[in-house]
Amino acid sequence: MNCLTNVKNTNELRAEFMSKSENESFARMIVAAFVAPLDPTIEELSDIRTAVSEAVTNSIVHGYSEKKGCIYLECYSRDDEITIVVKDYGKGIADVAKAREPMFTTNPDMERSGMGFTVMETFMDSVDVESIVGVGTKVMMKRRIGKNRF
Ligand code: ATP
Ligand code: MG
Repeated sequence: MNCLTNVKNTNELRAEFMSKSENESFARMIVAAFVAPLDPTIEELSDIRTAVSEAVTNSIVHGYSEKKGCIYLECYSRDDEITIVVKDYGKGIADVAKAREPMFTTNPDMERSGMGFTVMETFMDSVDVESIVGVGTKVMMKRRIGKNRF
């Protein structure tokens, strides 16, 4: 992390935690605290928390599944835009475009509906997914805070 910067109104935070379902609420809390200084509306906060929840759940249930591993959460803000990165070193995604389609899931038996990426895309301004099978998955999401205020 390069904390020597001349750019005002920037912030960075990194956290890592085990892929246990109880840590999903921990990730939501971190992001909520990180976004708070930008004075988000309740709706903005709820959208961001939901998107983070979907990405972290994916790392837990698909990335690492029955194994346990480390999930890396990175938050960046620059002026009124936040960037959130959720990264795992789990099994990876063979076809990212297919995985992003609404209602596509590889776990229908686990009552997954295949809507996680669609939720992230709906609630955030942009979602980028990079994944390599056997290496891991990185989801980068951006959202401007306060864009509907005026
Ligand atoms: P839902 O999120 O509605 O419970 P889902 O998790 O299957 O269902 P998405 O979140 O849209 O749906 O993900 C689609 C598919 O992409 C998953 O079924 C899984 O195969 C794959 N996938 C998503 N994230 C990861 C990840 N971090 N590692 C490995 N595979 C992933
Ligand atoms: Mg999902």
